[in-house]
Amino acid sequence: MAEAVTECNIKVLCRFRPLNQSEIMRGDQFIPNFLADDTVSVGGKSYAFDRVFPTNTTQEQVYNTCAKQIVKDVLGGYNGTIFAYGQTASGKTHTMEGKLHDPHQMGIIPRIAEDIFNHIFAMDENLEFHIKVSYFEIYMDKIRDLLDVTKTNLAVHEDKNRVPFVKGCTERFVSSPDEVMDVIDEGKSNRHVAVTNMNEHSSRSHSIFLISIKQEHVETEQKLCGKLYLVDLAGSEKVSKTGAAGAVLDEAKNINKSLSALGNVISALAEGTKTHVPYRDSKMTRILQDSLGGNCRTTMFICCSPSSYNDAETKSTLMFGQRAK
Ligand code: ADP
Ligand code: MG
Repeated sequence: MAEAVTECNIKVLCRFRPLNQSEIMRGDQFIPNFLADDTVSVGGKSYAFDRVFPTNTTQEQVYNTCAKQIVKDVLGGYNGTIFAYGQTASGKTHTMEGKLHDPHQMGIIPRIAEDIFNHIFAMDENLEFHIKVSYFEIYMDKIRDLLDVTKTNLAVHEDKNRVPFVKGCTERFVSSPDEVMDVIDEGKSNRHVAVTNMNEHSSRSHSIFLISIKQEHVETEQKLCGKLYLVDLAGSEKVSKTGAAGAVLDEAKNINKSLSALGNVISALAEGTKTHVPYRDSKMTRILQDSLGGNCRTTMFICCSPSSYNDAETKSTLMFGQRAK
């Protein structure tokens, strides 16, 4: 098993997407100034992260810099979580998923799927691997199984080791990257069917893809388990207090609450001195409890728009990322 180190292992990476066509047409300014590998300045203020990815960074570069090592660690028995945080249309889904079946444009999740199986094929043949995946979303504090549309309000329970898990969530055993992709496609199409406007919906829910890896030595029967949560968070944009009402306002309050609960957990972990980490303040942080901080590998992508039009949101996103440093 993984040794008991208490070091806190949180990496914060910042990625800016390029200006899009309509922003260029509108005459928006390009606001980030990339000062160094790990520093960006916006509006005269500098923000430092473990790494800053300028707009021309490829999906492959992003993967190699951040996720590749996590795959090795999870195969070594560690748990991990990779998040994407940012306002709607800042590049979260592009970073986490990208274009699933395009070798250049595919994002972190499909690359992880490929990498896991490449490692396994190269490992000791006396090791037997059991890999399973789950795919669910949290919307208005309800957990919906994306692999079984009849499960719309799953509960978080604790197992006998007091490790929280989503009870009753579908688990699929997978034995190749293609099978992982099939599960993602299935979950995405279920999600489409369940809602009228997919873009709006995906910006207001957190989607969580879980990969669990169990390996067992055929002779010694020694076991090693690791799991990795891949989280595409709801859009972090503030809804104007005057413009929103009813259901939209409720959604916004809910998202705000769950994102600040996450921010509080991450900053408590980053400080490292706090004995109390407020995992229990939201469903998401409860679920992620044994895959955040401590021995775990945690990576947060801070996704930003480069447009002057999104100036305020970008600054607030950068500040969120700074809390984890
Ligand atoms: P989010 O999930 O944060 O709402 P998306 O990932 O859907 O945002 O990105 C919004 C749009 O911008 C998409 O069309 C996406 O392809 C494009 N995009 C995002 N990031 C990049 C990038 N780094 N390079 C090129 N296009 C990007
Ligand atoms: Mg998205």
